[in-house]
Amino acid sequence: MNADLHCHSCHSDGLLSPVELARRAHANGVNLWALTDHDNLGGLAEARAEAVRLGLDFVDGVEISVTWMDMTIHVVGLAIDPRHAPLSEGLAQVRSGRDARALRMAEALELLGVRDAYQNALRLAGNPSLVGRSHFARVLVEQGYAADVHAVFRSYLVRGRPGYVEHRWTSLACAVQWIRGAGGVAVIAHPGRYRLSGDQMRRLLAEFQAAGGEAIEVVSGSHGEPEMRAFARMAREFGFYASRASDFHAPDESPVDLGRGAPLPDGLTAVWHAPALRFASEGHPA
Ligand code: AMP
Ligand code: MN
Ligand code: MN
Ligand code: MN
Repeated sequence: MNADLHCHSCHSDGLLSPVELARRAHANGVNLWALTDHDNLGGLAEARAEAVRLGLDFVDGVEISVTWMDMTIHVVGLAIDPRHAPLSEGLAQVRSGRDARALRMAEALELLGVRDAYQNALRLAGNPSLVGRSHFARVLVEQGYAADVHAVFRSYLVRGRPGYVEHRWTSLACAVQWIRGAGGVAVIAHPGRYRLSGDQMRRLLAEFQAAGGEAIEVVSGSHGEPEMRAFARMAREFGFYASRASDFHAPDESPVDLGRGAPLPDGLTAVWHAPALRFASEGHPA
């Protein structure tokens, strides 16, 4: 099984269209694929149609921005029904704060000398309601502030660095509830990215589980071997399903291409064995 259950199209901060992603996933040997754009479902119909054409099993997904203990955490929803109103209404609410945040980020960046930060980020965004830090990072690269987006995120746009602005997303409980209400499985995205202590991580995972969360990404484009081992252990400890995900955004930008991550370590239950995903490729009943 070559599953890749987390990636981004131009409907959020990826550079490829859903059709291009489906073709790339298929060409790379993926046989179970999810599109998980940030805070919106706009690319799913197009992704599913192309996946069906290619004979590639497809799962509707989303990656929801959450604020937990003053930190930003991402929760992926897999096998969600995009027509579930509380989910789409909840996501609309999450997106509504994004634009105000983008304007505040642009102001902060212009103080550094970045030219027309908001207009440039908007020009690079495929979806005007989803301007985010990746778009600003690409503007900073264009204007010579850093060599690539990874270098941008080392010096800018993160807490304690220029261009960062505080923002409150939705709660962990709301995100999980929307996903479960839509028939999906909630997954903690790239847990290795949060730089939490062991105790803090266990607290996050316990709260997530109590809210109805069922899975964590063990294999992620943001994880090296040590993170994979550590989160495989935590998945076993909590009894979470394990997910495998590239978090692909763009060629020449993402460290791991679609379907090219490591296999899941042994002794885990893969999230594609969750009942919601076993039936996902058959689509939701009309
Ligand atoms: P936002 O939701 O607007 O805060 O943007 C978050 C996005 O920024 C993530 O989904 C990544 O695509 C990107 N990002 C955050 N941190 C990094 C990093 N260290 N390196 C590369 N991209 C990053
Ligand atoms: Mn992103
Ligand atoms: Mn993420
Ligand atoms: Mn992502």
